[in-house]
Amino acid sequence: MNVGFIGLGTMGAPMARNILAKGHVLTVFDVAPAAVRGLVAVGARAAATPAKVAEASEILITMLPDAPDVERVALGPDGIVEGIRAGSIFVDMSTIDPGTTKKVGAAIRAKGATMIDSPVGKTADAAVAGTLTLMVGGDAADIARARPVLDCMGTDFFHCGELGAGQTIKLINNLLATCIAEASVEALVTGTKSGIALDTMLAVFRTTMAWSSQLAVAMPKRPLAGDFSPGFMMKLAHKDCRLALQMTEGLGVVAPVGRAALASLEQGLARGLANDDVGALLKLREEPAGVRVRLQQA
Ligand code: NAD
Repeated sequence: MNVGFIGLGTMGAPMARNILAKGHVLTVFDVAPAAVRGLVAVGARAAATPAKVAEASEILITMLPDAPDVERVALGPDGIVEGIRAGSIFVDMSTIDPGTTKKVGAAIRAKGATMIDSPVGKTADAAVAGTLTLMVGGDAADIARARPVLDCMGTDFFHCGELGAGQTIKLINNLLATCIAEASVEALVTGTKSGIALDTMLAVFRTTMAWSSQLAVAMPKRPLAGDFSPGFMMKLAHKDCRLALQMTEGLGVVAPVGRAALASLEQGLARGLANDDVGALLKLREEPAGVRVRLQQA
């Protein structure tokens, strides 16, 4: 198929490479020329604007940082809406709010094309491996047409509901994951400050309701190994939690634990950790406690 890809960052670049590797024709755009060069080097075609990518594509994908970026790239000058052809499918895989998704979807529909939202779960490693979780919202027939391209990037596929439903569940998912990370960090720092060995804590938690994928996978891989490189940047985690709480509270749901997680991320940004992995939440609790929580080999 003729596929377009806009936003070739930590996630987008490997996702685009996986589409190319399955034999699709790929046209790309990014505001960062180096990101475009990386994809052109492996066989993609560069386009000058998002509108030009849209003109060349039956399936057009965006993987951008935040909702204003998606709005600008879709609805702005030289944007997707200017170039998209009737019958084409626009798949936004960025994590944004469902309100923006629906607004952009209406403009796409007015051009005779359709939109799907498919934010992704898991990390940059899964983007490289092509094993992302895809949380998809939209019309079942459109999703079926896009599926051969979506399957290049992910292995865990969920049709969550109508347009915007993928974003809704993604935001809930990320707020939950951040709450678990923050609570885990607080527990590990408290245990360490009390003189309990990290291995002992992990061995006990593994057998109880305290266990999670954060403790099993994410934290041993990065913060507990002393690695704070992203991964998933703290500023993106902050954006997700901010959007999640906007949605949550907009629905009249009170979320004190979510609010506390957002406050921790805000503290992290103020401490200069925006571009570190979100696992740097650990540093925020270690520093005032005067301890370091690290696996023995770290
Ligand atoms: P990133 O910042 O590494 O990449 C974003 C890319 O978009 C960059 O290459 C940037 O140059 C480009 N870009 C920004 N504005 C643009 C514009 N106006 N036009 C064209 N290109 C533009 O971010 P990322 O980590 O790849 O994340 C992308 C999205 O995926 C975010 O919404 C994030 O929340 C979500 N996500 C990230 C992860 C992760 O582990 N990194 C996991 C799941 C979901």
